Amino acid sequence: MSTIRENIERIRENIAEAALRSGRDPSDIRLMGVTKTVDDSKIMEAIDCGIDIIGENYVQEGKRKIEKMGKTLEWHMIGHLQTNKAKYVVSLFDMIHSVDRMKLARELDKKSREAGCITKILIEVNVSGEETKNGVPKDKAVDLVKEIASLENLSIQGLMTMPPWFDDPEDARPYFVALRELRDKIVDENIEGVEMAELSMGMSGDFTVAVEEGATIVRVGRAIFGERTY
Ligand SMILES: *Cc1c(COP(=O)(O)O)cnc(C)c1O
Repeated sequence: MSTIRENIERIRENIAEAALRSGRDPSDIRLMGVTKTVDDSKIMEAIDCGIDIIGENYVQEGKRKIEKMGKTLEWHMIGHLQTNKAKYVVSLFDMIHSVDRMKLARELDKKSREAGCITKILIEVNVSGEETKNGVPKDKAVDLVKEIASLENLSIQGLMTMPPWFDDPEDARPYFVALRELRDKIVDENIEGVEMAELSMGMSGDFTVAVEEGATIVRVGRAIFGERTY
């Protein structure tokens, strides 16, 4: 058996165990393969092993891979997005995880309208408040969701976060809890047109903790494909 196949099977088992530990249905959690810098052959192998969401960080790299590998699976944009790149991502990606400001949302909405599509998005939240992190600050998130909800060609599906990096994944838990609580708060606001079905959180080092705290999409790169070479 190949390493990629073994890795994916082990990760799926870990996800299922974490789900059961926290009283969740394992089928409510989707495993995304994060493929920045990863060779096409490895990506195709992962797709062969049943990976049906691929996450890309860079527009050009993602576009090339989507054109080559096709839209038989979902392609999600998870990287920071410059406003002037909005035109390239709508109608190319199935979901944008990194919407964190009104200016970007307006541009995505405009380009989606021109393309005649509705773009699914997540709101990226900077839960830790670290200055170097992308994402809307936690205390501004509800207002941003309300404002974006009025844009007709965007559909808010949930929230995404990236906690600070820790050696011990337990240290990331409070950030996952905070994102889930923010989700609950937004649900309580009953904002028209806003779905809060998705919590995109958890990476190679901490996805089991994220699943225990409610993740619906875990974004895993190195644990599937090995260390990245830049
Ligand atoms: C690279 C990346 C990941 C995956 O990280 P790994 O540590 O390789 O699992 C997840 N989310 C985002 C936004 C990333 O940029």
